[in-house]
Amino acid sequence: MKITSARFVASLTDVRQLPTDGLPEIALVGRSNVGKSSLINKLCGKKNLAFISSTPGKTQALNYFLINESFYIVDLPGYGYARVPEHVKAGWSKLIENYLSNREQIKLVLHIVDARHEPTELDKMMAGWLDYFKIPYVIVITKIDKIARSKITKQVDMIKNAFGKLKYCQDFIIFSAITGVGKNELLSIIEKYISS
Ligand code: GDP
Repeated sequence: MKITSARFVASLTDVRQLPTDGLPEIALVGRSNVGKSSLINKLCGKKNLAFISSTPGKTQALNYFLINESFYIVDLPGYGYARVPEHVKAGWSKLIENYLSNREQIKLVLHIVDARHEPTELDKMMAGWLDYFKIPYVIVITKIDKIARSKITKQVDMIKNAFGKLKYCQDFIIFSAITGVGKNELLSIIEKYISS
């Protein structure tokens, strides 16, 4: 699949505001600063489509991007940013929970993790949660350019092992918003799920 058009359509803070056009949705989850905006920009071939935030945790809404006039990429609020007050954090997780547990249009979730680190407890919880709600997802291991070539296999195995047994995980994909590695693979998977 080639992305020929991509535009930001809305930033929503309430599930009652979600689009009613029935188009398929690909949702992105991951901890704050993991590289979700960079991934969206890279996939769409646009530099500033998704704002690359210098303040982690700033995105507090569901950000809708209309792709090829035929499906949405939905960027969810990043989780796990420490410097946010508890009540704000609670609001975010409620929004994420409401959206993921009820939204039938979600065809696939891209669960983004950082190649440099072992998955956090929240990363593992998110995977467990997607399994619980029976939502298919791929785990995207991003910032792979930060790992020495000779260490990539070992690092990816470490991340896979740390997640343990997952039910609805369709695949692990290594990605870099810098080099573009993984971009075509990700686009193929998205294409498959939006037409399923
Ligand atoms: P978000 O908060 O998840 O949307 O994260 P951003 O896309 O804003 O990225 C957070 C930081 O990580 C920024 O400084 C990005 O330039 C950097 N970053 C994101 N993706 C990559 C990547 O694939 N490789 C490298 N080296 N840096 C990345």
